[in-house]
Amino acid sequence: MSLLGMLDGGAGAPSPSAMCSSAGCSAQAAHALHWRNPRIHDADRVKTWAACAEHRESLAAWLRSRGFPVVETAFGETVERVA
Ligand SMILES: [Zn+2]
Repeated sequence: MSLLGMLDGGAGAPSPSAMCSSAGCSAQAAHALHWRNPRIHDADRVKTWAACAEHRESLAAWLRSRGFPVVETAFGETVERVA
């Protein structure tokens, strides 16, 4: 548990993973970006970022600009692997 989480905590507080992963954005996530870095991750390793509607495209574009495969889903969905 983080200190921030304790300070912000309380009944009904959204979990950190439900918030947008974009820096400085605390909007509720509506989308999930599943990705991996092929240089350091095996094919079945999946990292997941949460994204609000506003940042979904920019976060995905940032990942793709680095050559990382990205799969976009609704928030809360999981994927087995990203090609
Ligand atoms: Zn956002």
